[in-house]
Amino acid sequence: MVNDILDFSKLDAGRIELDSHAFDPLAFVTETIELVAGTAKQKGLALTCEVEGELPMAVLADNARVRQVLLNLLGNAIKFSEVGQINVKLTYRPEAGGVLGVAVSDRGIGIPCDRVDRLFRRFSQVDGSNTRKYGGSGLGLAISKALVELMGGEIGVESREGEGSTFGFTVAAPSVKPSQSEPFGAQLPKDTPGAAARILLVDDVAMMRELVRLMLLPSGYEITEASNGAEAVGVALSAPFDLILMDLQMPGMDGQAATRAIRAASDLNGKTPIVALSANVLPIHIADCLEAGMNDHIRKPISPDELLTKVARWSGANEV
Ligand code: ADP
Repeated sequence: MVNDILDFSKLDAGRIELDSHAFDPLAFVTETIELVAGTAKQKGLALTCEVEGELPMAVLADNARVRQVLLNLLGNAIKFSEVGQINVKLTYRPEAGGVLGVAVSDRGIGIPCDRVDRLFRRFSQVDGSNTRKYGGSGLGLAISKALVELMGGEIGVESREGEGSTFGFTVAAPSVKPSQSEPFGAQLPKDTPGAAARILLVDDVAMMRELVRLMLLPSGYEITEASNGAEAVGVALSAPFDLILMDLQMPGMDGQAATRAIRAASDLNGKTPIVALSANVLPIHIADCLEAGMNDHIRKPISPDELLTKVARWSGANEV
């Protein structure tokens, strides 16, 4: 797994191409916040959104990448907070062609000032005990920084240990006529070249989700994560996906049970391809997966080649 991460990290941000769309920044951010509202609620955290000054009705930027960065910051804010509210503040500066600013504030554990500099480096976590308590790989902020810089912006943090943190980023986002804007989520049909396929990634091991996310990153997929079978079923009932990647062994509801539940109960994803992520590749295990309603499997430890080929094939992004 470590080798895979290292190999993959060599691909680096230079391989990513931006795909800009016109979108309504406020609607977009509100709907992105909605995606994590359930997780925040489970921890008793309120999520709020405020706008400082005026926002254009529509801006031009790579909304999938902006969302990826925002989801990373929101995910961290939720992960590292036990109390209080998480606020997303939006700003817009028309100078320099138009710059959208997004700041995520939490009242969580905060970061000691001598550690702040290192956060945006790969594999950086504040300390080992946090790793054990909170999970994660220390890659999210490094990826966010690379993406933000690619989008002509900056990312930074202000934090006080024990009091909370504000992570903020900017992206170049010229304002455009509202009529040019697409509603959030109204992506191109999935078989149109360039459309971002929506993937639900289900695994109880946060490191494994991070690894898969990292391997898929350059291909521009929109990834939503769930950390157990029950959560996956909940997410699958509320939003359509082009592909579900499903771990098999998970505490509580396992991958097969979650697949049966999605096949039986989800109008939105009843027919969505479901591909197992599994270390078990004996014919009997594969037969089990098929019987549960899955379409294929990807071996663990995950090889980037197999993952990318099968994800492209099953998400309809590319007939391989
Ligand atoms: P991960 O969350 O997977 O560890 P990130 O790169 O997203 O990786 O974050 C790196 C580290 O920065 C985290 O492990 C944590 O120590 C610290 N961190 C990030 N966001 C916050 C936050 N909102 N509050 C406190 N610490 C944070």
